[in-house]
Amino acid sequence: MTYPKTEETMQVIKDLVSIPSPSGNTNEVITFVENFLTDLQVKTKRNRKGGLIATIEGKDTNKHRMLTAHVDTLGAMVKEIKPSGRLKLDLIGGFKYNSIEGEYCQIETSAGKVFSGTILMHQTSVHVYKDAGKAERNQDNMEVRIDEKVQSADEVRALGIEVGDFVSFDPRVQVLPNGYIKSRHLDDKASVGILLQLIKQIQNEKIELPYTTHFLISNNEEIGYGGNSNITPETVEYLAVDMGAMGDGQTTDEYTVSICAKDASGPYHYLLRKKLVQLAVEHDIGYKLDIYPYYASDATAAIRSGHDIVHGLIGPGIDSSHAYERTHITSIDNTTKLLYHYLQSEMVE
Ligand SMILES: [Zn+2]
Repeated sequence: MTYPKTEETMQVIKDLVSIPSPSGNTNEVITFVENFLTDLQVKTKRNRKGGLIATIEGKDTNKHRMLTAHVDTLGAMVKEIKPSGRLKLDLIGGFKYNSIEGEYCQIETSAGKVFSGTILMHQTSVHVYKDAGKAERNQDNMEVRIDEKVQSADEVRALGIEVGDFVSFDPRVQVLPNGYIKSRHLDDKASVGILLQLIKQIQNEKIELPYTTHFLISNNEEIGYGGNSNITPETVEYLAVDMGAMGDGQTTDEYTVSICAKDASGPYHYLLRKKLVQLAVEHDIGYKLDIYPYYASDATAAIRSGHDIVHGLIGPGIDSSHAYERTHITSIDNTTKLLYHYLQSEMVE
């Protein structure tokens, strides 16, 4: 029994967060994942939504298992080009403007040209605006300053920038020597990195899985419908691998794997949850059982779309989610270990 090397996983996560992929514009990151899996001789296919499904045949081909993690992230779209040459944004996914204030960003035109910019309050300069501190961080006050000599809407349009262009945020990724990784979009690229490394381990060590197992790399989770399709009729267990939510009253931390008992959509399957806890105990894996108050996962999306499945949710603990996120290598490690044993375990029914 050899677990995947977590130091290597940290590098894969770094590579993933460095590829811009707001929901709706994920082709580049999906191609990266596809190439990673093709190199391992894993069979993959894309769905029409642009997500990727990797399948590894198991001993039992009558009952299937599906695991999912998502590569799409929060982002924005150009809503308006202001007469001043600044851009008004429309947000993609669930977050507030304050979490992107001052952030460097990238604007991708429909022709594929990329421009850099900064997301700022219109009233940022304290030398000019008295209410700079108190003004509300909202769609009207926040804007993008493009790093080009543009002072009118026409000049911006001449660059090729238009309404509907995707805007992605600088992840500011750093892997520190003491084991922390801080970056935007660890939700949920940390989990994608973990799944990729597990698949690599399964292939390299020629591990035979008990059941045919699908890995769905979802590309629409942040907008609610990433993991609700391409679930085979044989699929019994469906496990979402997504971030554990930290904050006041939460048990989840940056050092263990978080097992979700319930989120805003209701309880996860009781038997599967108990089995995941039992696996953690048996293999001496640091875990926390938790409830996420404002949260729904791709497993929720799958249940809501009518699939009769046993659904669960686990993941690494992520601090300050949907903003400047952080986790620690030990959380990545514990999540990897639990999944390693889960993949080789018997089903609950
Ligand atoms: Zn997520």
